[in-house]
Amino acid sequence: MTFRRMVEAVSFSGTGLHTGVPATVRVLPGEVGQGVLLRTGGGEAPLSSCGLSGTGRGTEVLLPGGGSLRTTEHLFAALAGLGIYSATVELDGPEVPCLDGCSAAFARGLAAASRPAGADEMPKGVDLAVPVAVEDETRGAVVAAFPCPELWITYVIRYEERPIGTQMADFRPARDDFLGELAPARTFALASEMDDLRARGLALGGSLENALLVGTEDVQALGGLRFPDEFVRHKILDLLGDLYLLGAPLRGRIAALRSGHTLHCRLVEKLKRAAGTL
Ligand SMILES: [Zn+2]
Repeated sequence: MTFRRMVEAVSFSGTGLHTGVPATVRVLPGEVGQGVLLRTGGGEAPLSSCGLSGTGRGTEVLLPGGGSLRTTEHLFAALAGLGIYSATVELDGPEVPCLDGCSAAFARGLAAASRPAGADEMPKGVDLAVPVAVEDETRGAVVAAFPCPELWITYVIRYEERPIGTQMADFRPARDDFLGELAPARTFALASEMDDLRARGLALGGSLENALLVGTEDVQALGGLRFPDEFVRHKILDLLGDLYLLGAPLRGRIAALRSGHTLHCRLVEKLKRAAGTL
């Protein structure tokens, strides 16, 4: 795994995927050893001290003093994928902008505003002493993490919708190409769930500009699918972004089956308790 340090501020503006509200998020350089600081609505807190919620079809990070950042996962996946663990993330608005529905635009901007970290600038990693797992029996979903010298994610999804079906993919940040193989994988929604999502006030900023729309037999994708298994790649992207909520790089082997943000967040909370930081 390589790590990078921010050398200048970078900002991203656009509308939120769920709220449809315009917002700007800025990522600023941090001091060595500072970790990740979050700022929003006048409040500031270290990421590792924040609460998490994964129930709104995205991940929401709750600052201890009030205020929150919604839909953090694609920005955080870009930070994790590039290995940036010392920075301040400042959000003006309720939700991180969706941009192109994946991590590509975030990763391009962050890569240009950072440089490889020096030997004395490496973040401290999180090791697992024992296996940790979380499960949702009603959905047949499980995520398990095992001790391993490097982060290594395996993800399996299964959908009735034919364009997705069953997909499995592996990602090892130390070996695989984040910018080429993972960052461009876009978020997706099922056509069958759109009415329900909109009724819940979700996906209000979603469109074919930033998401794939999956029917029972076909998929609407601007420019076509970027990878035959773009869906499971996006799930790995989401998990990578949610693991960033630890505030430090995890060394562990992770197997996820039919999971989502709710279980990802429960796993992170359990990992934090196991590491004694919660
Ligand atoms: Zn996502």
